[in-house]
Amino acid sequence: MTRAGSKPFVYLVGAGPGDPGLLTLKGRDAIACADVVVYDRLVSPRTLDHARSDAVRVYVGKGPRCHTMPQEEINALLVRTAREGNVVARVKGGDPFVFGRGGEEAEELRAAGIPYEVVPGVTSAVAAPAYAGIPVTHRGASSSFTVITGHGCVGKDEPAVPWEHAARLGGTLVFLMGMERLSDIAENLMSAGMDGATPVAIVRLGTWPEQRAVEGTLGDIAQVARDAGVENPAVVVVGQVAALRSRLQWIERKPLFGKRIVVTRARHQASRLTRALEAQGAQVTEFPVIEIASPSSAEPLAWAVRHAEAYQWIVFTSVNGVEAFFGALNAAGRDARALAGSEVAAIGPATAAALARHGIAQVEVGSEFCAEGLAEALAKSVQPGQRVLVARAQESRDVLPRMLEAAGAQVDDVAAYRTLSVDAGSLELEADLRAGRVDAVTFTSSSTVTNLLACLGGDASLLKGAALCSIGPITTNTLRDAGLEPAVQADEYTIEGLVDAICSLWEGEAR
Ligand code: SAH
Repeated sequence: MTRAGSKPFVYLVGAGPGDPGLLTLKGRDAIACADVVVYDRLVSPRTLDHARSDAVRVYVGKGPRCHTMPQEEINALLVRTAREGNVVARVKGGDPFVFGRGGEEAEELRAAGIPYEVVPGVTSAVAAPAYAGIPVTHRGASSSFTVITGHGCVGKDEPAVPWEHAARLGGTLVFLMGMERLSDIAENLMSAGMDGATPVAIVRLGTWPEQRAVEGTLGDIAQVARDAGVENPAVVVVGQVAALRSRLQWIERKPLFGKRIVVTRARHQASRLTRALEAQGAQVTEFPVIEIASPSSAEPLAWAVRHAEAYQWIVFTSVNGVEAFFGALNAAGRDARALAGSEVAAIGPATAAALARHGIAQVEVGSEFCAEGLAEALAKSVQPGQRVLVARAQESRDVLPRMLEAAGAQVDDVAAYRTLSVDAGSLELEADLRAGRVDAVTFTSSSTVTNLLACLGGDASLLKGAALCSIGPITTNTLRDAGLEPAVQADEYTIEGLVDAICSLWEGEAR
């Protein structure tokens, strides 16, 4: 960036149309370096995740009819905040200079002598149609596109639209802020000579998980939109390209498009499952019911890592266990060489991968990804009298150590970490569940089941309307113990296996 570090400074940043992945790299950097982030209604909360945790966030959200803060006040706020010696990121939906009033803000800043930079964004005028399978230009169908504000209909704040010219351009017309005046727009175009059979598509909340599109013709689109209850924010695409949607639509064809899925996991673990579900089109709410903490007593693990050589076998049952073990090992000034003389075993491929990251590649992995599977395999390899260290969650079940003891091993069952339940957001979740706004809930361990139920005040019936998705048989049993039947259980007890299972729930559903 040109003026890195200089203050005051204002970045006028386009955040793109909604999908947080459509923010530019430069936009992300501007948000990340800002002391103050001033943002609008149509900016995804995820975009703001790039801001520093100590950055001040100011919402000036403009709705169509409810200007939370008038433009003059926003201008004054930008000038004042910058003058206080801050780097300000003014973050707007789409592109800041496409009906974003970014030009007015730039004029104010210039008049106040405050340096600024404009970071263009992906405009909804192009991106919302694209996500609905509509190219705004197309060989043989449209050689231009014109972006028009619906407010221009009345010629109040903007110069009136020259309808005769618009109707005769022959290219694509894209209307922003056009929903309130949709029937006027259609009638003006038809009066100016445009064919009533011209294809029209409306894309609401394009690129957001809630994206919705309806199609019609210039003659019937106002009625179609009314019947479907489609409102702002939406773009209206008029022209032959709108008809390409039936062939080119893609996001609506994803297996989980439009499905609202609640992911229950430890806060720092949820994102991989979330991303995998979102890649399939799902609308994900993360409900972190688990937080990973140190065990009640750190001493058993500290002793075990100091005496790692004493064990013929070291067994890990989860990624968290691996991380906690190596954290303690490093804290004791030791490294992976301490395990050189021991056999190492893991439950599941993710645990084995975590070990590999710490340099332990030769690992026995249970053929089944649960404690029983690994215990059975180990019981065959472990010799009577051998010492086995099991490093795992404080609240784990006893199956694995008991089975190893039954095979004659001397087992040290050491708590490497503890899972705590967190109930932030449970009221919203309860309301969503009651209102039927949750299509599925994922469970990636037994503790996600027990903790979620604890957060819901033990009322398992709240979960009966959603498809409950279990990662494996142990988690399924915990659900059944609570009187709940999973809609699906992963064939392979991994995140990928769970996502496949969830996709299969709605396979073949008409779209
Ligand atoms: N600067 C923005 C436009 C701001 S005007 C841009 O470049 O996209 C606000 C209007 O933009 C809304 O009324 C709607 O017509 C359109 N809009 C913004 N985001 C949208 C989205 N995700 N899907 C459809 N239309 C959107």
